[in-house]
Amino acid sequence: MQQQHCPYCVGRGYFQLITGGSETCPSCEGTGSEKEEAREEMAT
Ligand SMILES: [Zn+2]
Repeated sequence: MQQQHCPYCVGRGYFQLITGGSETCPSCEGTGSEKEEAREEMAT
């Protein structure tokens, strides 16, 4: 059973803002793991 880290927040579950705060990762909703069910490929 492998658990992949969320590619957006690198498994942290949140983003570190430059302003000093933190924002919950919208992709994994703060879990830090990549969702396999609702995986959407976003070309950025
Ligand atoms: Zn995430």
